[in-house]
Amino acid sequence: MKKQWIVGNWKMNGSLAANEALLQALMSGLNQPACGVAVCVPSVYLAQCQALLKGSAIELGAQDVSQHEQGAYTGELSAAMLREFGARFAIVGHSERRQYHGETDAVVAAKTQRALAGGVTPIVCVGETLAEREAGKTEEVVKRQLAAVIHTNGHCISEIVVAYEPVWAIGTGKTASPEQAQAVHAVLRAQLQAASSNPARVPILYGGSMNAANAAELLAQPDIDGGLVGGAALKAPDFLSIIAAARKN
Ligand code: PEP
Repeated sequence: MKKQWIVGNWKMNGSLAANEALLQALMSGLNQPACGVAVCVPSVYLAQCQALLKGSAIELGAQDVSQHEQGAYTGELSAAMLREFGARFAIVGHSERRQYHGETDAVVAAKTQRALAGGVTPIVCVGETLAEREAGKTEEVVKRQLAAVIHTNGHCISEIVVAYEPVWAIGTGKTASPEQAQAVHAVLRAQLQAASSNPARVPILYGGSMNAANAAELLAQPDIDGGLVGGAALKAPDFLSIIAAARKN
């Protein structure tokens, strides 16, 4: 079993002062974590966080990346720009971007491709809405979302990270049960394995109201390789507890 990853998604939260306080608390609370740890910060703060995290065990990520390499795309940020400011990861296709910014499966696939080409590891989010789950369409939806990414990036699919984030569990306090999450992770695992000739295990993170109380049980599931954490990543004690709950190996 490869090491797990606990990744914070700060969303549109933070300030220069708050970021510094949070990162200082995380760095002083972390001693040699058994898992990989990263924080995906608002891009305007990448430079600040890059400087603060220098030499620490915490990796840096962005929350989005352009599907274009460069040029006349006002407001967009390229993978190369993110990389230059220390981003190892970029979240791609988060449900909030699919919902509020109209990102389609094709756009998510193109963003994944650009991230990989620019040396940034995409954390590709998939997940069903409550209506889709209740209609028995969970598997169909997540497989369709992942298939688009595989179609465009099949040759290097082993280099991505996937996050299963049921939309109904994001920011709602409703968590998928460990069994519900494991069942979807197993479907995604099989799809990734069928698509790749590389035996390397693609990390599949769970996201959706993960917190200090439920992390251990979720992270103990055989196909859950870590967590993508929103609200609980903004409080150092909570994020540190989730990190401590990650599997050792
Ligand atoms: C997220 O936005 O990726 C997320 C998982 O949020 P939360 O943990 O707050 O549900």
